[in-house]
Amino acid sequence: MTTANAYPTNQTIYTLGILGGGQLGMMLAEAALPLGYRCVFLEDAPNCPASLYGEVFTSEQLEDFIAAADVFTLEFENTPIDTVTRLQQLSDNGKKQGMFPPPLALEVAQDRLREKTLFNQLNIQTVPFQSVNSKQELYVACAELGLPLVLKTSRGGYDGKGQFVIKTDADIDQAWYELGDAVTGKGNLTPTPAPLIAEGFINFSREVSIIATRAQDGSIRCYDLVENHHHNGILATSHAPAVGTSHLLPTAKAAIETLMTHLDYVGTMALELFVTKDANDKDIILANEIAPRVHNSGHWSIEGAVTSQFENHIRAVVGLPLGDTDNVYPSIMVNVLGNYPSLIEVLAIDGAHYHTYHKQERDDRKIAHITLMPNDVTNLEPALEQLVRVLPNKMGLDT
Ligand code: AMP
Repeated sequence: MTTANAYPTNQTIYTLGILGGGQLGMMLAEAALPLGYRCVFLEDAPNCPASLYGEVFTSEQLEDFIAAADVFTLEFENTPIDTVTRLQQLSDNGKKQGMFPPPLALEVAQDRLREKTLFNQLNIQTVPFQSVNSKQELYVACAELGLPLVLKTSRGGYDGKGQFVIKTDADIDQAWYELGDAVTGKGNLTPTPAPLIAEGFINFSREVSIIATRAQDGSIRCYDLVENHHHNGILATSHAPAVGTSHLLPTAKAAIETLMTHLDYVGTMALELFVTKDANDKDIILANEIAPRVHNSGHWSIEGAVTSQFENHIRAVVGLPLGDTDNVYPSIMVNVLGNYPSLIEVLAIDGAHYHTYHKQERDDRKIAHITLMPNDVTNLEPALEQLVRVLPNKMGLDT
């Protein structure tokens, strides 16, 4: 699809088709526009955040969506593999200019067992884990891994949903009662029947993530490690960079670079990690999961990095060189859940940047984020305290 005189003549890709139209799609479009690219979205919610930035096609209009775009990417991890595979094939046949990331990355990310197995194959350390297909196998896993352990659905869970922490033997039957249906596919626990995964429970000291972008020529740019704090399973804050983690950065970088290269990944990806101690009391990181897309723990990079995770994703997808991922100043990104704060009160805080997602208020829904980036780092924690005072949902940050 071309628009007369709207683009520099050296650009061969004009329209990006994004699978999904949530806030991630919206922020991708915000990054694409200044580079001269526009976006269309495949999304069944007509008033989605991305609808402000481009045409939205429903899944019934898939053919129109495909016709409208030159190159494809995604912002929604549970995108059907069939759609992604078809877009990849169209690109392989020269009818379209690419589907990034490739289907394999999505297949791995949609299946916790496959994901952790791949991590271990690539010598990336994880918690010990086992697959569980029956109550009997759950008893075996509890005996072999020891308690406590975390039982998770291997597919379909997000924000801590589809998980049960088994603390004592008395919890085992209840855990199976709540999650066992995933194995047969009954109920709404998973999109398709799939084994459960039992994971050793880690007493981590911190949760961190690393974000990186891989270009079509295979070059990779990594952002600094960030420290993430959750409330009721939902990300509350990301601190960029994670203070005192420079000794862990080389391992984290090597892990994400190995994964991206193995998957022949193009675009931005996140790797979530636990920081814990090994038997010698030395800090180590254990990989938990990847997100094959731009990630909430990278929103700080819009203001906090020289080039944001969104812009680098767009650059990768359209085949442009990647930008510098260095930090500008330390920053803290705070998610706004449920209810909007007063914009006047938020913007009265020096260094506060507000990003609304234009969504209706609803309990625990991510509706905006705020990045605090004062130019004097000593003002960062005070700015957070000031912000928490004016947030309707304090996400445990006031205790
Ligand atoms: P996940 O859906 O795997 O990202 O898990 C959601 C949250 O549960 C993580 O952010 C951790 O806080 C916690 N969690 C997940 N797996 C484990 C584990 N094996 N041990 C301890 N805590 C975990």
